[in-house]
Amino acid sequence: MACSKLAELEATALRRELSETGRGDAGEATRDGQQMISFCCNDYLGLSQHPQVKQAASEAIKQYGAGAGASRLVTGNHPLYDDLETRLAGLKETEASVVFGSGYLANLGIPPVLTGRGDLILADELSHASMHAGIRASNADSLFFRHNDMADCQRILDEQRGHYRHCLIMTEGVFSMDGDRAPLVELCDLADRYDAWLMTDDAHGIGILGNGRGSAAEAGVGGRIPLQMGTLSKAIGSYGGFICAAKPVIDLLINRARSLIYATGLPPAAVAAASAALDVIEKDEQLVRIPMERAQRFTRQLSLPEPESTIVPLITGTAETALAASRVLAEEGFLVTAIRPPTVPEGTARLRFTFAAHHSDEDIDRLVAAVRKTGILS
Ligand SMILES: *Cc1c(COP(=O)(O)O)cnc(C)c1O
Repeated sequence: MACSKLAELEATALRRELSETGRGDAGEATRDGQQMISFCCNDYLGLSQHPQVKQAASEAIKQYGAGAGASRLVTGNHPLYDDLETRLAGLKETEASVVFGSGYLANLGIPPVLTGRGDLILADELSHASMHAGIRASNADSLFFRHNDMADCQRILDEQRGHYRHCLIMTEGVFSMDGDRAPLVELCDLADRYDAWLMTDDAHGIGILGNGRGSAAEAGVGGRIPLQMGTLSKAIGSYGGFICAAKPVIDLLINRARSLIYATGLPPAAVAAASAALDVIEKDEQLVRIPMERAQRFTRQLSLPEPESTIVPLITGTAETALAASRVLAEEGFLVTAIRPPTVPEGTARLRFTFAAHHSDEDIDRLVAAVRKTGILS
Protein backbone atom coordinates (compact mmCIF):
# COMPACT_ATOMS: atom_id res chain seq x y z
CA MET A 1 0.00 0.00 0.00
CA ALA A 2 2.80 2.41 0.89
CA CYS A 3 4.51 1.61 -2.41
CA SER A 4 1.50 2.51 -4.51
CA LYS A 5 1.01 5.74 -2.58
CA LEU A 6 4.64 6.62 -3.21
CA ALA A 7 4.34 5.77 -6.90
CA GLU A 8 1.41 8.15 -7.14
CA LEU A 9 3.47 10.95 -5.60
CA GLU A 10 6.35 10.16 -7.94
CA ALA A 11 4.09 10.33 -10.98
CA THR A 12 2.85 13.80 -10.09
CA ALA A 13 6.28 15.22 -9.15
CA LEU A 14 5.10 15.49 -5.56
CA ARG A 15 7.39 12.92 -3.96
CA ARG A 16 9.68 14.50 -1.36
CA GLU A 17 12.97 13.28 -0.03
CA LEU A 18 15.19 14.27 2.83
CA SER A 19 18.57 15.61 1.70
CA GLU A 20 21.39 15.80 4.18
CA THR A 21 22.17 19.50 4.47
CA GLY A 22 25.06 21.09 6.33
CA ARG A 23 24.74 24.73 7.37
CA GLY A 24 27.51 27.24 7.91
CA ASP A 25 27.47 30.60 9.63
CA ALA A 26 27.22 32.84 6.58
CA GLY A 27 24.22 31.28 4.90
CA GLU A 28 26.22 28.46 3.32
CA ALA A 29 24.54 25.13 2.85
CA THR A 30 26.24 21.95 1.76
CA ARG A 31 24.13 19.42 -0.07
CA ASP A 32 25.27 16.32 -1.96
CA GLY A 33 28.85 17.51 -1.59
CA GLN A 34 28.04 20.85 -3.21
CA GLN A 35 28.58 24.10 -1.35
CA MET A 36 25.74 26.54 -1.96
CA ILE A 37 24.32 29.74 -0.53
CA SER A 38 20.92 29.11 0.96
CA PHE A 39 18.04 31.41 0.12
CA CYS A 40 15.39 29.22 1.70
CA CYS A 41 16.33 29.13 5.36
CA ASN A 42 14.14 30.85 7.99
CA ASP A 43 17.15 31.79 10.15
CA TYR A 44 16.68 35.40 9.00
CA LEU A 45 19.14 36.95 11.43
CA GLY A 46 21.64 34.11 11.42
CA LEU A 47 21.06 33.75 15.15
CA SER A 48 21.24 29.95 15.13
CA GLN A 49 24.95 30.47 14.47
CA HIS A 50 25.51 33.56 16.65
CA PRO A 51 28.39 33.13 19.15
CA GLN A 52 26.36 34.53 22.08
CA VAL A 53 23.41 32.28 21.29
CA LYS A 54 25.58 29.18 20.95
CA GLN A 55 27.38 30.07 24.16
CA ALA A 56 24.09 30.38 26.06
CA ALA A 57 22.99 26.99 24.74
CA SER A 58 26.26 25.29 25.78
CA GLU A 59 26.11 26.82 29.25
CA ALA A 60 22.52 25.64 29.68
CA ILE A 61 23.54 22.10 28.79
CA LYS A 62 26.38 22.22 31.30
CA GLN A 63 24.12 23.52 34.04
CA TYR A 64 20.83 21.71 33.35
CA GLY A 65 21.66 18.78 31.07
CA ALA A 66 20.70 17.86 27.54
CA GLY A 67 17.00 17.08 27.96
CA ALA A 68 14.07 18.25 30.07
CA GLY A 69 13.25 14.84 31.54
CA ALA A 70 9.48 15.25 31.60
CA SER A 71 6.62 17.53 30.60
CA ARG A 72 6.61 21.03 32.04
CA LEU A 73 3.90 20.19 34.56
CA VAL A 74 5.97 17.32 35.94
CA THR A 75 9.67 18.20 36.21
CA GLY A 76 10.43 19.74 32.81
CA ASN A 77 9.87 23.36 33.83
CA HIS A 78 13.50 24.30 34.38
CA PRO A 79 14.39 27.80 35.64
CA LEU A 80 15.20 29.24 32.20
CA TYR A 81 11.56 29.36 31.09
CA ASP A 82 10.54 32.22 33.34
CA ASP A 83 12.93 34.75 31.83
CA LEU A 84 11.98 33.76 28.28
CA GLU A 85 8.23 33.94 28.90
CA THR A 86 8.46 37.29 30.64
CA ARG A 87 10.39 38.72 27.71
CA LEU A 88 8.06 37.30 25.08
CA ALA A 89 5.05 38.82 26.83
CA GLY A 90 6.86 42.16 27.00
CA LEU A 91 7.76 42.00 23.33
CA LYS A 92 4.15 41.33 22.35
CA GLU A 93 2.57 43.73 24.88
CA THR A 94 0.51 41.07 26.65
CA GLU A 95 0.27 40.09 30.32
CA ALA A 96 1.80 36.66 30.00
CA SER A 97 3.03 33.96 27.66
CA VAL A 98 3.63 30.23 27.63
CA VAL A 99 6.23 28.31 25.64
CA PHE A 100 5.22 25.08 23.84
CA GLY A 101 7.49 22.39 22.37
CA SER A 102 7.16 23.92 18.90
CA GLY A 103 5.06 26.31 16.88
CA TYR A 104 3.21 23.36 15.40
CA LEU A 105 2.37 22.08 18.88
CA ALA A 106 1.17 25.53 19.95
CA ASN A 107 -1.18 25.84 16.97
CA LEU A 108 -2.37 22.27 17.43
CA GLY A 109 -3.12 22.73 21.11
CA ILE A 110 -4.62 26.21 21.43
CA PRO A 111 -7.86 26.22 19.35
CA PRO A 112 -9.41 23.17 21.11
CA VAL A 113 -8.91 24.86 24.49
CA LEU A 114 -10.59 28.11 23.49
CA THR A 115 -13.37 26.79 21.27
CA GLY A 116 -15.66 23.78 21.11
CA ARG A 117 -19.14 22.69 20.06
CA GLY A 118 -21.35 25.70 19.38
CA ASP A 119 -18.40 27.94 18.54
CA LEU A 120 -17.01 29.13 15.22
CA ILE A 121 -13.43 29.34 14.01
CA LEU A 122 -13.04 31.65 11.04
CA ALA A 123 -9.61 31.49 9.40
CA ASP A 124 -7.75 32.82 6.39
CA GLU A 125 -7.78 30.14 3.69
CA LEU A 126 -3.98 30.22 3.41
CA SER A 127 -3.37 29.57 7.11
CA HIS A 128 -0.45 27.29 7.95
CA ALA A 129 -0.94 23.52 8.16
CA SER A 130 -0.42 23.62 11.92
CA MET A 131 -3.37 26.02 12.31
CA HIS A 132 -5.51 23.69 10.23
CA ALA A 133 -4.44 20.87 12.56
CA GLY A 134 -5.59 22.87 15.59
CA ILE A 135 -8.84 23.85 13.91
CA ARG A 136 -9.57 20.20 13.11
CA ALA A 137 -8.71 19.15 16.66
CA SER A 138 -11.36 21.55 17.99
CA ASN A 139 -15.04 20.61 18.03
CA ALA A 140 -15.93 24.08 16.77
CA ASP A 141 -17.35 24.62 13.29
CA SER A 142 -14.82 26.12 10.89
CA LEU A 143 -15.14 28.45 7.93
CA PHE A 144 -12.46 30.05 5.79
CA PHE A 145 -12.39 33.51 4.27
CA ARG A 146 -10.62 34.31 1.03
CA HIS A 147 -6.99 35.18 1.57
CA ASN A 148 -6.68 38.63 3.19
CA ASP A 149 -10.15 39.51 1.89
CA MET A 150 -11.77 41.55 4.65
CA ALA A 151 -15.04 41.95 2.75
CA ASP A 152 -15.35 38.17 2.61
CA CYS A 153 -14.43 37.86 6.28
CA GLN A 154 -17.07 40.43 7.19
CA ARG A 155 -19.69 38.76 4.97
CA ILE A 156 -19.18 35.46 6.81
CA LEU A 157 -19.30 37.19 10.19
CA ASP A 158 -22.51 38.97 9.17
CA GLU A 159 -24.16 35.73 8.09
CA GLN A 160 -22.82 33.40 10.75
CA ARG A 161 -21.75 35.15 13.93
CA GLY A 162 -25.26 35.15 15.37
CA HIS A 163 -25.48 31.35 15.23
CA TYR A 164 -22.52 30.79 17.54
CA ARG A 165 -21.55 31.42 21.14
CA HIS A 166 -17.82 32.23 20.72
CA CYS A 167 -15.94 33.09 17.55
CA LEU A 168 -12.18 32.83 17.00
CA ILE A 169 -10.61 34.51 13.96
CA MET A 170 -7.23 33.08 12.96
CA THR A 171 -4.63 34.39 10.54
CA GLU A 172 -0.91 34.73 9.98
CA GLY A 173 0.89 38.03 10.59
CA VAL A 174 3.22 37.24 7.69
CA PHE A 175 2.09 34.46 5.36
CA SER A 176 4.79 31.84 5.29
CA MET A 177 4.52 30.84 1.64
CA ASP A 178 3.42 34.17 0.13
CA GLY A 179 5.35 36.68 2.20
CA ASP A 180 2.45 39.12 2.37
CA ARG A 181 1.00 40.45 5.63
CA ALA A 182 -2.50 40.23 7.05
CA PRO A 183 -4.48 43.51 7.32
CA LEU A 184 -4.25 43.47 11.12
CA VAL A 185 -5.91 46.82 11.79
CA GLU A 186 -9.01 45.77 9.83
CA LEU A 187 -9.02 42.36 11.51
CA CYS A 188 -8.85 43.97 14.95
CA ASP A 189 -11.77 46.20 14.00
CA LEU A 190 -13.83 43.25 12.75
CA ALA A 191 -13.00 41.23 15.86
CA ASP A 192 -14.18 44.14 18.02
CA ARG A 193 -17.31 44.73 16.00
CA TYR A 194 -18.38 41.07 15.95
CA ASP A 195 -17.21 40.18 19.46
CA ALA A 196 -14.64 37.66 18.26
CA TRP A 197 -11.17 36.71 19.49
CA LEU A 198 -8.28 37.30 17.11
CA MET A 199 -5.32 34.93 17.03
CA THR A 200 -2.30 35.69 14.88
CA ASP A 201 0.54 33.34 13.97
CA ASP A 202 3.56 35.58 13.61
CA ALA A 203 6.16 32.90 12.91
CA HIS A 204 7.80 35.07 10.24
CA GLY A 205 7.28 38.51 11.78
CA ILE A 206 9.14 38.26 15.07
CA GLY A 207 12.73 39.45 14.82
CA ILE A 208 12.01 41.25 11.54
CA LEU A 209 9.02 43.60 11.59
CA GLY A 210 8.18 46.27 14.15
CA ASN A 211 11.82 46.58 15.31
CA GLY A 212 11.83 42.87 16.00
CA ARG A 213 8.55 42.80 17.93
CA GLY A 214 6.61 41.44 14.98
CA SER A 215 3.81 42.28 12.60
CA ALA A 216 1.36 43.49 15.26
CA ALA A 217 3.82 46.15 16.44
CA GLU A 218 4.55 47.03 12.81
CA ALA A 219 0.83 47.61 12.24
CA GLY A 220 0.47 49.54 15.50
CA VAL A 221 -1.93 47.02 17.05
CA GLY A 222 0.40 45.24 19.49
CA GLY A 223 -1.90 45.77 22.45
CA ARG A 224 -5.08 44.94 20.51
CA ILE A 225 -4.47 41.31 19.52
CA PRO A 226 -5.44 39.08 22.44
CA LEU A 227 -3.79 35.87 21.17
CA GLN A 228 -0.35 36.24 19.60
CA MET A 229 1.34 33.01 18.65
CA GLY A 230 4.86 32.63 17.31
CA THR A 231 7.86 30.37 17.00
CA LEU A 232 11.38 30.40 18.38
CA SER A 233 12.61 28.38 15.41
CA LYS A 234 12.82 31.02 12.70
CA ALA A 235 14.42 34.45 13.25
CA ILE A 236 15.00 33.49 16.90
CA GLY A 237 17.29 30.72 15.64
CA SER A 238 16.37 28.14 18.28
CA TYR A 239 13.39 25.82 18.73
CA GLY A 240 9.99 26.00 20.41
CA GLY A 241 6.69 27.81 20.03
CA PHE A 242 4.80 30.28 22.18
CA ILE A 243 1.62 32.20 22.71
CA CYS A 244 1.29 35.61 24.37
CA ALA A 245 -2.07 36.48 25.92
CA ALA A 246 -3.81 37.64 29.09
CA LYS A 247 -2.84 35.81 32.29
CA PRO A 248 -6.12 33.82 32.65
CA VAL A 249 -5.81 32.60 29.04
CA ILE A 250 -2.26 31.43 29.66
CA ASP A 251 -3.31 29.73 32.91
CA LEU A 252 -6.13 27.97 31.10
CA LEU A 253 -3.78 26.76 28.35
CA ILE A 254 -1.39 25.37 30.96
CA ASN A 255 -4.33 23.42 32.38
CA ARG A 256 -5.93 22.31 29.15
CA ALA A 257 -3.64 22.38 26.09
CA ARG A 258 -2.94 18.72 25.39
CA SER A 259 0.09 19.40 23.20
CA LEU A 260 1.66 21.24 26.14
CA ILE A 261 0.60 18.90 28.93
CA TYR A 262 1.41 15.59 27.23
CA ALA A 263 4.70 16.55 25.56
CA THR A 264 8.12 16.78 27.17
CA GLY A 265 9.47 20.25 27.91
CA LEU A 266 12.06 21.79 25.63
CA PRO A 267 15.73 20.94 26.10
CA PRO A 268 17.21 23.68 28.34
CA ALA A 269 19.62 24.68 25.56
CA ALA A 270 16.72 25.65 23.27
CA VAL A 271 15.21 27.93 25.91
CA ALA A 272 18.54 29.54 26.79
CA ALA A 273 19.37 30.08 23.12
CA ALA A 274 16.00 31.77 22.54
CA SER A 275 16.55 34.18 25.45
CA ALA A 276 20.04 35.00 24.21
CA ALA A 277 18.66 35.61 20.72
CA LEU A 278 16.05 38.02 22.09
CA ASP A 279 18.92 39.87 23.79
CA VAL A 280 20.66 40.29 20.46
CA ILE A 281 17.44 41.43 18.76
CA GLU A 282 16.78 44.01 21.46
CA LYS A 283 20.28 45.46 21.36
CA ASP A 284 21.11 45.31 17.66
CA GLU A 285 18.48 47.37 15.85
CA GLN A 286 20.68 47.56 12.79
CA LEU A 287 20.81 43.76 12.44
CA VAL A 288 17.01 43.54 12.58
CA ARG A 289 16.66 45.90 9.62
CA ILE A 290 19.06 44.10 7.25
CA PRO A 291 16.93 41.14 6.04
CA MET A 292 14.22 43.47 4.68
CA GLU A 293 16.85 45.54 2.88
CA ARG A 294 18.17 42.38 1.26
CA ALA A 295 14.70 41.37 0.11
CA GLN A 296 14.22 44.87 -1.34
CA ARG A 297 17.49 44.66 -3.24
CA PHE A 298 16.23 41.44 -4.84
CA THR A 299 12.73 42.62 -5.77
CA ARG A 300 13.87 45.97 -7.16
CA GLN A 301 16.35 44.40 -9.54
CA LEU A 302 13.70 42.02 -10.84
CA SER A 303 10.96 44.69 -10.92
CA LEU A 304 8.82 42.68 -8.53
CA PRO A 305 6.41 44.32 -6.05
CA GLU A 306 8.01 45.72 -2.86
CA PRO A 307 8.40 42.89 -0.37
CA GLU A 308 6.19 42.95 2.74
CA SER A 309 8.50 40.56 4.58
CA THR A 310 11.72 38.62 4.09
CA ILE A 311 9.81 36.03 2.04
CA VAL A 312 9.50 36.50 -1.73
CA PRO A 313 7.71 33.82 -3.75
CA LEU A 314 8.00 33.34 -7.50
CA ILE A 315 5.09 31.20 -8.60
CA THR A 316 5.91 28.82 -11.45
CA GLY A 317 2.62 26.93 -11.59
CA THR A 318 3.34 23.23 -11.84
CA ALA A 319 5.47 21.19 -9.49
CA GLU A 320 7.68 20.23 -12.45
CA THR A 321 8.49 23.85 -13.38
CA ALA A 322 9.29 24.68 -9.75
CA LEU A 323 11.63 21.69 -9.50
CA ALA A 324 13.33 22.55 -12.79
CA ALA A 325 13.92 26.17 -11.71
CA SER A 326 15.25 25.00 -8.37
CA ARG A 327 17.73 22.75 -10.19
CA VAL A 328 18.96 25.63 -12.37
CA LEU A 329 19.57 27.72 -9.25
CA ALA A 330 21.43 24.82 -7.62
CA GLU A 331 23.72 24.60 -10.63
CA GLU A 332 24.45 28.30 -10.09
CA GLY A 333 25.26 27.67 -6.43
CA PHE A 334 21.98 28.67 -4.76
CA LEU A 335 19.80 26.50 -2.59
CA VAL A 336 16.14 27.45 -3.07
CA THR A 337 13.81 24.51 -2.60
CA ALA A 338 10.70 24.10 -4.71
CA ILE A 339 7.50 24.45 -2.71
CA ARG A 340 4.78 22.17 -4.02
CA PRO A 341 1.23 21.14 -3.11
CA PRO A 342 -0.09 20.35 -0.58
CA THR A 343 2.09 22.99 1.12
CA VAL A 344 0.63 25.50 -1.37
CA PRO A 345 -2.62 25.26 -3.37
CA GLU A 346 -2.70 23.18 -6.56
CA GLY A 347 -1.28 25.07 -9.55
CA THR A 348 0.73 27.51 -7.42
CA ALA A 349 4.00 25.61 -6.98
CA ARG A 350 6.77 28.10 -6.47
CA LEU A 351 10.25 29.03 -5.51
CA ARG A 352 10.18 30.64 -2.10
CA PHE A 353 13.14 32.93 -1.53
CA THR A 354 14.00 34.06 1.97
CA PHE A 355 16.46 36.82 2.74
CA ALA A 356 18.74 36.99 5.72
CA ALA A 357 21.16 39.34 7.41
CA HIS A 358 24.18 37.27 6.40
CA HIS A 359 23.50 37.56 2.66
CA SER A 360 25.83 40.06 1.02
CA ASP A 361 24.84 42.51 -1.71
CA GLU A 362 26.96 40.48 -4.06
CA ASP A 363 25.12 37.26 -3.11
CA ILE A 364 21.84 38.94 -4.02
CA ASP A 365 23.14 40.30 -7.30
CA ARG A 366 24.42 36.89 -8.34
CA LEU A 367 21.13 35.32 -7.29
CA VAL A 368 19.24 37.81 -9.46
CA ALA A 369 21.35 36.80 -12.47
CA ALA A 370 20.69 33.13 -11.71
CA VAL A 371 16.93 33.70 -11.42
CA ARG A 372 16.95 35.35 -14.85
CA LYS A 373 18.58 32.20 -16.23
CA THR A 374 15.76 29.98 -14.99
CA GLY A 375 13.36 31.67 -17.38
CA ILE A 376 10.55 31.67 -14.81
CA LEU A 377 10.10 35.43 -15.01
CA SER A 378 9.37 35.57 -18.72
C1 LIG B 1 7.06 27.29 10.78
C2 LIG B 1 5.69 27.70 11.06
C3 LIG B 1 4.99 27.13 12.13
C4 LIG B 1 5.53 26.00 12.93
O1 LIG B 1 6.51 26.42 13.81
P1 LIG B 1 7.60 25.36 14.35
O2 LIG B 1 8.15 26.03 15.54
O3 LIG B 1 8.58 25.19 13.25
O4 LIG B 1 6.87 24.10 14.66
C5 LIG B 1 3.73 27.62 12.41
N1 LIG B 1 3.18 28.59 11.67
C6 LIG B 1 3.82 29.15 10.63
C7 LIG B 1 3.15 30.23 9.87
C8 LIG B 1 5.08 28.71 10.28
O5 LIG B 1 5.70 29.24 9.23
